[in-house]
Amino acid sequence: MSSHIDPDKLDKLAEVAVRIGLNLQKGQDIVITAPMEAAPLVRRIAVHAYKAGAGIVTPFFNDDAITLARYEHAQDESFDRAPNWLFEGMAAAYKSGAARLAITGDDPMMLAEQDPAKIARLAKANSLAAKPAMDPIVGFEVNWNIVAYPSAGWAAKVYPELPVEQAQGKLMDAIFAASRIDGDDPVADWEAHSARLQKRVDWLNDMNFSALHYAGPGTDLHLGLADGHIWKGGASPALNGIVCQPNIPTEEVFTCPHAYKVKGTVAATKPLAHQGNVIEDIAVRFEAGRIVEATASKGEDVLKSLLNTDDGASRIGEVALVPHSSPISQSGILFYNTLFDENASCHIAVGQCYADTIEGGSELSPEELKQKGGNQSIVHVDWMMGSDAVDIDGITKTGERVPVMRGGEWA
Ligand code: ZN
Ligand code: ZN
Repeated sequence: MSSHIDPDKLDKLAEVAVRIGLNLQKGQDIVITAPMEAAPLVRRIAVHAYKAGAGIVTPFFNDDAITLARYEHAQDESFDRAPNWLFEGMAAAYKSGAARLAITGDDPMMLAEQDPAKIARLAKANSLAAKPAMDPIVGFEVNWNIVAYPSAGWAAKVYPELPVEQAQGKLMDAIFAASRIDGDDPVADWEAHSARLQKRVDWLNDMNFSALHYAGPGTDLHLGLADGHIWKGGASPALNGIVCQPNIPTEEVFTCPHAYKVKGTVAATKPLAHQGNVIEDIAVRFEAGRIVEATASKGEDVLKSLLNTDDGASRIGEVALVPHSSPISQSGILFYNTLFDENASCHIAVGQCYADTIEGGSELSPEELKQKGGNQSIVHVDWMMGSDAVDIDGITKTGERVPVMRGGEWA
């Protein structure tokens, strides 16, 4: 472990992930996915999980050097394959009651030198194979959580001017602060934070807008909301009845847009780290819900292959509101990691919707979900479009406009 990482805080983060994030129940198994470099955090998570009564804690590690070895030396056919057996095994674990914990922290530039066509093929093969393991997560069937640990490559991207160990320590401190584990009682702090998010959720659900309108530099967007959409945020119960907090950190309230009722232009306000590349200055135009034009100053081919993954990859499945004054945004750090950057900015996601953001959505067939405006895809990628220069109005069922955000803050 980097000597610049505070072991007590690392332990607290592990405890918050198990107790608040997962709300792990006695006897429950956990499937953990993590970068190899995150082993120090995974080990502390295992300790807290077993103390909380976990059945079996099973980690799956990936390693950047091994991934790069594949890009450099694997035969061509390798790029259309994925380990289906692994994802089927994970799916079986969730069916039999396991919780899922993901650690994020990969080097956002890991694949910057690799062939974009190979990256796209492998991303597609992986997304298809991972579907059985992702469905129970996207459908919120099990309690799950994602937390972060800084790999050396990630830290070096955020703090290029620092020696790498120091950069890791500094990024870890930023993760601790954003994850609200700096206080004396992180568990109580999380309960208070969740209650504040719930207030916003209640207001938005009471207003029951039919659409949102965004105005800002490069952005003029009419975004219809799905029929029977529900706003969510903070802690909420998974279908297995366990109240969990999927994202640590989290600052967003979010719902399901109408996949066929989005029109206008959007300019991204932060770079997007995707598939080991950083995509910069994304600008898109929607017509009848579909992205019909997309440009980027860097990584445009990665963006285009993402949007071409399948039918739903060029429509949106999530819309989220985050005030510009969120602590992550105020830190001023550009994280190059979606878990952090999306919680510093209003965002939308292309691809799969969360069925539980439509009333009764978890019970609906794919066809019924689509009729209400819910999008379907093998991808779900968030990108940031909020800033202190963006105004958002809610449009009521009768066509009145109600200010929702002004200058990036709740109106
Ligand atoms: Zn989101
Ligand atoms: Zn999302």
